[in-house]
Amino acid sequence: MENPIHASTTTLAEMQAWLDQFAAQRDWEKFHTPKNLAMSIAIEAAEIMELVQWQEGSEPIEDSANDSPMAEEIADVLSYLLRLATVLKIDPAQALALKIKKNAIKYPALDPHRAKPPGATEQ
Ligand SMILES: [Mg+2]
Repeated sequence: MENPIHASTTTLAEMQAWLDQFAAQRDWEKFHTPKNLAMSIAIEAAEIMELVQWQEGSEPIEDSANDSPMAEEIADVLSYLLRLATVLKIDPAQALALKIKKNAIKYPALDPHRAKPPGATEQ
């Protein structure tokens, strides 16, 4: 049976609710301070770096399955990022859209006719 959970059908709010429930069921909310979550993001990001530490940099990641070590570390970083957003009451979708808009001004597209801001629809 195929796993019904997919990035195209699962919202960030749903993922945040999974993590909220997981933390609440273990009474871990008291540990999820902004400082602890920020440190955890960096620690888990370092675990991603560890997986490619001795590579030349241009070779493909050999195992990119959803249950691979790389996928597990991506999930760890995402978990702590979403928990930090929840704790700080930051909407991660709005934050990302605003950041992309800022970056589009800072780094203009090579072809401005192809550039669309987040949320723009086809005309
Ligand atoms: Mg990890």
